Amino acid sequence: MDVSELLDGLNDQQREIVAAPLQNMLVLAGAGSGKTRVLVQRIAWLMKVEQASSHAVLAVTFTNKAAAEMRSRVEQVVDGNVHGMWVGTFHGLAHRLLRMHFQEANLPQAFQVLDSDDQLRLVKRIIRSLNLDEKRWPAKQVQWYINGKKDEGIRPHHIDTQFDPTEQTFVQIYSTYQQACDRAGLVDFAELLLRAHELWLNNPVLLSHYQQRFAHILVDEFQDTNAIQYAWLTMLGKARSNVMIVGDDDQSIYGWRGAKIENIQRFLKDFEQAKTIRLEQNYRSTANILNAANKLIANNNNRLGKELWTQIDAGEKISIYTAFNEIDEARFIAGRIEAWREDNGSLDQVAILYRSNAQSRLLEEALLQAQLPYRIYGGLRFFERQEIKDALAYMRLINNRDDDAAFERIINTPTRGIGNQTLAIVRDAAKSLETTLWQACQQMLSSGQLKGRSAKTIGLFIELIDSLEDDSSHLDLDQQANFVISNSGLKAMYQAEKGERAEARIENLNELVTACQTFEMDPELEDEQSQLTAFLTHAALESGESQADDYEAAVQLMTMHSAKGLEFPLVFIAGIEEGMFPSQQSVEDISRLEEERRLCYVGMTRAMNKLYLCHAESRRLYGQEKYHKPSRFIRELPESCIEEIRLQSQVSRPATTGRFSSTFTTESFENTGFTLGQRVQHSKFGEGVVLNYEGSGAQSRIQVNFDGLGSKWLVVAYANLQPI
Ligand code: ATP
Ligand code: MG
Repeated sequence: MDVSELLDGLNDQQREIVAAPLQNMLVLAGAGSGKTRVLVQRIAWLMKVEQASSHAVLAVTFTNKAAAEMRSRVEQVVDGNVHGMWVGTFHGLAHRLLRMHFQEANLPQAFQVLDSDDQLRLVKRIIRSLNLDEKRWPAKQVQWYINGKKDEGIRPHHIDTQFDPTEQTFVQIYSTYQQACDRAGLVDFAELLLRAHELWLNNPVLLSHYQQRFAHILVDEFQDTNAIQYAWLTMLGKARSNVMIVGDDDQSIYGWRGAKIENIQRFLKDFEQAKTIRLEQNYRSTANILNAANKLIANNNNRLGKELWTQIDAGEKISIYTAFNEIDEARFIAGRIEAWREDNGSLDQVAILYRSNAQSRLLEEALLQAQLPYRIYGGLRFFERQEIKDALAYMRLINNRDDDAAFERIINTPTRGIGNQTLAIVRDAAKSLETTLWQACQQMLSSGQLKGRSAKTIGLFIELIDSLEDDSSHLDLDQQANFVISNSGLKAMYQAEKGERAEARIENLNELVTACQTFEMDPELEDEQSQLTAFLTHAALESGESQADDYEAAVQLMTMHSAKGLEFPLVFIAGIEEGMFPSQQSVEDISRLEEERRLCYVGMTRAMNKLYLCHAESRRLYGQEKYHKPSRFIRELPESCIEEIRLQSQVSRPATTGRFSSTFTTESFENTGFTLGQRVQHSKFGEGVVLNYEGSGAQSRIQVNFDGLGSKWLVVAYANLQPI
């Protein structure tokens, strides 16, 4: 490839970055301005023009997927093998380093990485082994504490506990936990980073080797680095003064996990003569989307300040959909995606974004109903989540005592002192008696084969399940689910965990109650099965097969947090309501509120051509009907960039959304040549009635309720509808 081709298609600032002399650089720029693209191009330039060996390049990305993409893009551009290059997340790179230098890092060669569930289990064991009260010292909170300290680079011996008895206990657990990890050769996620940092701190020769090797260091999404990552980077990169970081302070969304925006300013101080270059042209989004996002983020204080403009046309306005309730919201979104598919749009160009994982359930259901394949990105589908499976296992066992899988899952969840030994006895007995685990327990209890503590704990478990059934079988399904979740100890267990993840688990459990509340049985089968059985079958089927196959084009569902760095032609954001987004906890804390606003900015700027913002007037949340106002983030958008979508059912209702009602004018509707309520004929779908329309000119769409088929959205320009 000709060198000049490396700069083809780039704007002046982008060229300046890609072809810059070797130096420290900060690329500070808003969403969609080509930061990731110039970073890749810069690597290619270094290799082609500066003759850098691929071994000399270290690139840090935010996800493993981004790393794989980056490697393949560089490979394409330089047209060759780039195996020597190190590309990965901070965690991935630290892991690699520790594997290569396990001895210097004081690790056994076969050290294992401890994922966060395993870490939690170990922390629990430690707390118990120290004879501490698990209620007073919830494992989840301790885990949070330990990881937080490690992220700051702090070991137990650094902490002064003289005046703080609470901290003293935390440190005692931290230290015992660490000894246990070291003995067993286990390394948790935070430890990967800390160890890698200490590895260099304690081995100057090794450090200097890597400083010599990695002449070129590049970091994407820099705004979300934490203290230990920053320290590691500084150590490695300072010596050679050739570090390029790219980031956007407006997209810093991991403050709650220890990320520090201030690292951007620190970089300018710590890295000699770092040059700041800004990119101001956005290549991703239409002007309407971009201007609205700019206006939104302008409400935050203390920004580093960036201007962002686009040459792309205004495009369609952002559509605000006021759903009647959360089910209407999900159906609306599925309906729009169907219309997109009918217009030959590919499903993998569509993303549905939400604030919290619990929101996915209804969306999943609506997509299933519409037979639209989907994939949950960076997370599990609703019915596959740990806490949901736990709760369902209780319900399954209540429904059928012989369900061994359910039995195994919850026999010691929450922990009730039934150890592996007792379990092994039960399993053996079940095997030799050729019966189920439940029956084996009962037989051994009545024959006196189980003794002492084992007999007691197993007996209590049997009693618990029996009484859960006795006390709840007369209740409606949702009340029964609620009863089981509360009285099985599951809810208390998750509540005790504390932290963001625990909150999400509780939200999911509450959402399960809502799912039971709205579950409708197949009327044909009402006599054949109980509601509980029907619901459990429904849950099992939903978790089993619905996720799209890998090769199939599918709608992507994800939280706004996991959407970072990605882009899609068509984006829906669901649940933009006060109390949901921004979340209830953030509205009174300005710094949290600003982080929520940045998250909204990230969400909106994922959209290339068309963006829908949806909110519901009423929403069943945690088993209760809530009435939410549209989010302040919607109010912060400029009127000129948005349009409200109203469906016929809403037109006839009193206007509850005030501010938007003026945007609905019959005049532009008349431009389409049709009127509400008019009967029309379609060559494929037959006759129907016009319900609604949106957009204008070539973009305008019309909703028709076809006799016997239901309603469909059609592009007026292609639909060839005939008035009748
Ligand atoms: P984010 O902040 O969301 O991570 P980003 O700044 O990393 O965004 P990119 O993802 O690199 O932006 O680029 C956004 C889109 O714009 C991509 O589709 C990219 O290919 C395109 N793009 C970038 N620069 C140019 C250019 N000079 N000409 C045409 N398209 C470009
Ligand atoms: Mg990017």
